[in-house]
Amino acid sequence: MAKVVIFSGAGISAESGLSTFRDAGGLWEKYRIEEICQAGCLSWNRENTLTFYDARREQLASVKPNAAHYALSKLHEKYPNDIAIITQNVDDLFERAGCKDVLHLHGFLPRLRCEQCGATHLIGYTKQERTFTCKSCNGSLRPDIVFFGESAPMYEYLYEAIQGCEFLVIIGSSGNVIAMDHFALHVKISILNNLERSDAINERVYTKVLHKKATEAMDEIVGDVERFLEQ
Ligand code: NAD
Repeated sequence: MAKVVIFSGAGISAESGLSTFRDAGGLWEKYRIEEICQAGCLSWNRENTLTFYDARREQLASVKPNAAHYALSKLHEKYPNDIAIITQNVDDLFERAGCKDVLHLHGFLPRLRCEQCGATHLIGYTKQERTFTCKSCNGSLRPDIVFFGESAPMYEYLYEAIQGCEFLVIIGSSGNVIAMDHFALHVKISILNNLERSDAINERVYTKVLHKKATEAMDEIVGDVERFLEQ
């Protein structure tokens, strides 16, 4: 079981050019979440929802991992059994930075999922062909994204990872979707790195708080994790 859990959110990909939920003027201000990212929207607003995720895949093709993705991939490669990389992000920037075994809690944008049998199909950055059906059962396909109000089966693995964790690093998450403070209270060391304070986080429960860009915080975070694992 990994001693270090590195948990990231939309903020880690912001410097690659992907909007966070709460960026002023960002992508998510232009859409109503309940119309394209909430349980049921595939029934009543299917075409608009699929079109939205087609555009997200196209956008993903145009961005690159940043120095934070690369630094953490390198760190993970050095200590593969001691570090778990867990993200709320649906982008593939960790994978493109060479990171293996990334746990995606909210799905994976380059993938479709069968609505009947749950089988997944990688489509990369292409549009979802509307007539394309599941290779296993012929069922209809949807983006492999966990919408608000849907169950998130991967959370089980997050809770499992936190059980064995001694050192928790949180990067680029406002704590609005997944509250992490109680996890920080149960580990020996916790580092929080966000650009700014969030109303959904009690910063007093963290050992260290870094208010700076992830790429600028990375040297300190990597150094702290290495020292902890080498002691
Ligand atoms: P959020 O948008 O609620 O919060 C982003 C946090 O990142 C903020 O606290 C902000 O201060 C911080 N931040 C912004 N730029 C940063 C930077 N350069 N370096 C460090 N921190 C920075 O994001 P969330 O908590 O991850 O929750 C939003 C949900 O949105 C998640 O479920 C996620 O799946 C989804 N989402 C994913 C992507 C993606 O896959 N890239 C993008 C947008 C939203």
